[in-house]
Amino acid sequence: MRKYLIAILCFVLAIPFFGACEVSHEHEQATDWSSNETHHWHACVGGDCDEAFEKAEHVYDNACDEDCNVCGEERTAAAHKYDNACDDDCNVCGEKRTPAAHKYDNACDDDCNVCGEKRTPSEHEYDNACDDDCNECGEERTPSEHEYDNGYDADCNECGEERAVEIPTGNSDLTQDDAFGAQD
Ligand SMILES: [Zn+2]
Ligand SMILES: [Zn+2]
Ligand SMILES: [Zn+2]
Ligand SMILES: [Zn+2]
Ligand SMILES: [Zn+2]
Ligand SMILES: [Zn+2]
Repeated sequence: MRKYLIAILCFVLAIPFFGACEVSHEHEQATDWSSNETHHWHACVGGDCDEAFEKAEHVYDNACDEDCNVCGEERTAAAHKYDNACDDDCNVCGEKRTPAAHKYDNACDDDCNVCGEKRTPSEHEYDNACDDDCNECGEERTPSEHEYDNGYDADCNECGEERAVEIPTGNSDLTQDDAFGAQD
């Protein structure tokens, strides 16, 4: 019991000393923000006081945001993230940029080599009905048959392709139709 009383007495006697420390100055909050790498706070303007008011971590909108929304503390933010050279807005913050032009192999290519963006390409370009590959992209097709006026015509009316024509000689019974047949 006596020990208990002494303890209480010590406690009561100690109060004035702590109390005196606390009232040694009245905290006064600075209006400007103080900050370090991770936090911001309002410091106390009174003397050597370590009191920090409203201390909190910096607030950034996203990984690309380089200054704190509250105190403006700058940091080295993450680089913007784009899917590929053709992507015009950052995947993280939406920041717009002027992307690289889409890359197509040729006028007939309908999707970008980089991002796959589809477009309506030019029509394939062939010299004439007999041409079997596109001048632009080389796409092969089944062209029209060469067109000759008759069995003796040695070059195609469409493309000028020459062929060997055998003009029958010495057999007057052969008609032109037979000559045609011989060509096939
Ligand atoms: Zn203070
Ligand atoms: Zn901050
Ligand atoms: Zn970004
Ligand atoms: Zn593209
Ligand atoms: Zn083509
Ligand atoms: Zn032809």
